[in-house]
Amino acid sequence: MDAARKHIRRERESLIRTRFTEAFGVEHPIVQGGMQWVGRAELAAAVSEAGGLGLITALTQPTPADLADEIARARDLTAKPFGVNLTILPTINPPPYDEYRQVIVDAGIKIVETAGSNPGPHLPMFHDNGIKVLHKCTSVRHAVKAQSLGVDGISIDGFECAGHPGEDDIPGLVLIPAAAKEIEIPMIASGGFADGRGLVAALALGADGINMGSRFMCTAESPIHQKVKDAIVAGNERGTELIFRTLRNTGRVASNTISREVVDILDKGGQFEDIAHLVSGKRGVKVYETGDLEAGIWWIGTAMGLIDDIPTAGELVSRIVSDAEDLIRSRLAGAIA
Ligand code: NAD
Repeated sequence: MDAARKHIRRERESLIRTRFTEAFGVEHPIVQGGMQWVGRAELAAAVSEAGGLGLITALTQPTPADLADEIARARDLTAKPFGVNLTILPTINPPPYDEYRQVIVDAGIKIVETAGSNPGPHLPMFHDNGIKVLHKCTSVRHAVKAQSLGVDGISIDGFECAGHPGEDDIPGLVLIPAAAKEIEIPMIASGGFADGRGLVAALALGADGINMGSRFMCTAESPIHQKVKDAIVAGNERGTELIFRTLRNTGRVASNTISREVVDILDKGGQFEDIAHLVSGKRGVKVYETGDLEAGIWWIGTAMGLIDDIPTAGELVSRIVSDAEDLIRSRLAGAIA
């Protein structure tokens, strides 16, 4: 067999099929999670083009009209399906969620990732327009509730994750199989995933795929400053900090002078008003724009300890799928006496 045919055979063999790939119509069970300031057209399109599911983060766009433009930009970059993330969490200036939702529908998007609070109010409009909803949540009880409301898939997010891990502090090793006991619809796992080993582990724990944020932040197409990517490669699994614990809106961010100041103020009894100027997203985005790692709060998960390079999104997706397949076929199969 010549090299090209071998390669084609290998590509075919590398297709890991799950309930998630079937239900959501993607080639590989790998999702690029919604990330504030990072989930822009270039990255989402590159992930989808590679056969994963890329997501544009709605609230990264200052207005609903900008979201419409961003979706159009992604369509110029890929003909494959991509989705939009709509996160509903406390914000300093509450955005017009209904208008963002309308843009998603009008643009003909067919997959939405909801995150944060109850997806219920958004479901009828999405479902009436043939949109599948993947709801991201951080506890089994919220996953069960979302399933009962009729979402099409669950993304269960362990304590390892960047962003908002909830208040229960249950890591994926327990959270994923605990959720798998209760969830009958397709379910992907999130928090701490960065490589083929993670994909195999997620499948073994009862999930149908993985969602990765931090790992995709550190790819060639990720629209953040090179210095931030270099810091992620240089960093390790101990480089994150939990902020907003006393406010019950816990966030996992990169540990820096600002994050430590925030923790200090809140530990001394401070309220959100005392830290709003430190944590605002408007300030945090400067980190990604300028590469100044101390300019504000920036978001990264413990998966930082597993990230050692800056591949293209396509190289990353192929590598994860083929490493997962090798792991299943050789090391795991070989472990059976
Ligand atoms: P922002 O500037 O409005 O707020 C900055 C941070 O403060 C956010 O984490 C927000 O949740 C938190 N916050 C705001 N008001 C609060 C309050 N009254 N009490 C407690 N915490 C409060 O937000 P942004 O950075 O522009 O982000 C926009 C949206 O995207 C927010 O809903 C935010 O939570 C979400 N987000 C999600 C992730 C993630 O990884 N899941 C990461 C960053 C931001």
